Amino acid sequence: MTNTDEALATIRAGFHLSAQRVYLDGNSLGALHDTVRRHLDTVVSRQWGEDLIAGWNKHDWINLPSTVGDRIAQLIGAGPGEVLCCDNLSINLFKGLAAALELNAPRIRIITEAGHFPTDNYIAGGLANLLGPQRCQVEAVEINTLETLDFSNVAVLSLSHVNFRTGTLRNLPEITARAQAQGALVLWDLAHSAGVIEAELNRHHVDMAVGCTYKFLNAGPGSPGFLYIAKRHQSATNPLPGWMGHADRFAFEPNYRPAPGITRFLTGTQSVIAMAAAQAALSVFETVTIKTLRQQSLALTQYLMDQLANNPVTSGIECLTPGEAQRRGSQVSLRLEHGFPISQALIERGVIVDFREPDIIRFGIAPLYNQRADINIAVTTLADILKSGIYREQRFSQRATVT
Ligand SMILES: *Cc1c(COP(=O)(O)O)cnc(C)c1O
Repeated sequence: MTNTDEALATIRAGFHLSAQRVYLDGNSLGALHDTVRRHLDTVVSRQWGEDLIAGWNKHDWINLPSTVGDRIAQLIGAGPGEVLCCDNLSINLFKGLAAALELNAPRIRIITEAGHFPTDNYIAGGLANLLGPQRCQVEAVEINTLETLDFSNVAVLSLSHVNFRTGTLRNLPEITARAQAQGALVLWDLAHSAGVIEAELNRHHVDMAVGCTYKFLNAGPGSPGFLYIAKRHQSATNPLPGWMGHADRFAFEPNYRPAPGITRFLTGTQSVIAMAAAQAALSVFETVTIKTLRQQSLALTQYLMDQLANNPVTSGIECLTPGEAQRRGSQVSLRLEHGFPISQALIERGVIVDFREPDIIRFGIAPLYNQRADINIAVTTLADILKSGIYREQRFSQRATVT
């Protein structure tokens, strides 16, 4: 085994994963690592249970958005003081877009992609409704029209680094440079890349970014989001000014004065327990680099595509995820007629994937804990299900609230 294999094997052994199940949904909800479970136990029983209110100082709960944010910064190529871990992705996006419009006034146009994750476009639309058409206009364009788009009157371009449906990785350096050359700001959504792909935000002079910690960062269901604002833009206004972003929180002044730096983008009190989970989950990344994880992820997605192509039952399935490594995120998306019942049959057989309307099954690859054996089982099981036609049974068509 190489050092990398050993490091990954040690990390993998700490995840709570059953031998009866193959987990390929780390792009939706990352798995629980024992470090997180143990730290949560300490935070709940000892820090909160015994220290109560003193915990805010004694355990530095008050600074968690910055300390956890600085740790995330290392994974996405940002500097200290440029990332906050707080709220959720949607709310951070609202803050980022509002700040971008202010910074780039009098420009008022927000460009997003038509195939963006819905919340990203809902939030942009909500901001436009609030500000009115004189101050904000949103246009969702087809991604293939970006290349010829004129950015000369665009305030901010809001895009996903990896598209959640197809798993396509966008050319962040190239798109950022082109939009900025015409004076637009660029905000990247790193929901599907943080923890698996080097975003190198500083190196590529990215203006803003948002992301979540419950996907590839494994911080648990509903764990907080993050917001990156490049140092040069931190004088902007937080559209949701709350006491946590005040220059002197405990002065309880009647008037709002923003804190210096990125702290002004905080709003209300953070969920300490969820942030503690994020802090512990990020510590799992200490012994491995994102570069290594990216290599591992690419090797596994490639292996999955090869296995699908080599199996006569699955070889004809349309794969929406690009074959070229430089355009591939950390998932493989297949388009399948009867995709929903097939995904449910896979889950019943212990291969945990997810389904996205109208006909997409996503196989998420989490390089911290997935391995080739998972992929072998997934492909054999899929082939079995298709061959036997078992997915046609009625029970596989029942939809739960969350897919
Ligand atoms: C998962 C995801 C979200 C989720 O936003 P929340 O505010 O955390 O619910 C948003 N955008 C993208 C691209 C995502 O993949």
